[in-house]
Amino acid sequence: MVTATPPRIGVLALQGDVREHVQVLRGLGAEAVPVRRPDDLAAVAGLVIPGGESSVIDKLSRTFGLREPIRAAIAAGLPVYGTCAGLIMLADRIVDGIDGQQTFGGLDITVRRNAFGGQVFSFEADLTVPELGDPPVHAVFIRAPIVERVGPGVQTLAALPDGTVVGVRAGNLIGTSFHPEMNGETRFHRLLLEMARGR
Ligand code: GLN
Repeated sequence: MVTATPPRIGVLALQGDVREHVQVLRGLGAEAVPVRRPDDLAAVAGLVIPGGESSVIDKLSRTFGLREPIRAAIAAGLPVYGTCAGLIMLADRIVDGIDGQQTFGGLDITVRRNAFGGQVFSFEADLTVPELGDPPVHAVFIRAPIVERVGPGVQTLAALPDGTVVGVRAGNLIGTSFHPEMNGETRFHRLLLEMARGR
């Protein structure tokens, strides 16, 4: 019998809900490690970019010399899953960013930050995600972005009843506006693990 070594998945640990993602990944049998330096990044087969505050993650990634290594890893096909602020970091274009805010890019999408209004505005919704099958995804939105434009070659994974796109995938990149790591939803992380194992 062949025993597969569990893939080592990094969680970008500059700011945001790092611990929750580490717990989900460990629960799925992966080795989960925080990524704070380029060396950490070089040692992982997949990466989660957590929710938090995208403008802070952007600034700290430059301060810690991680911006260019992450961009290079994305270009080389590293599987990456971004939630909320993480989705913003994966977008090629951003609307309503702070002055000078940059993203890593990789997904040919336009995201709008804080798209549902005031800083504290949060809500939950059950979403049908055909890629994941039954049951629907119970999605928690916290000061969430939306995907305003989806380029050719980007698949919509999840949308609100009014058609607003809140989950996308292209190649080895997945992004959701919501936070599966907060309520025991593990299927997006499973997808990431499958992509990491396939490499
Ligand atoms: N509003 C935050 C941002 O702009 C994202 C919120 C979140 O990650 N829950 O980065």
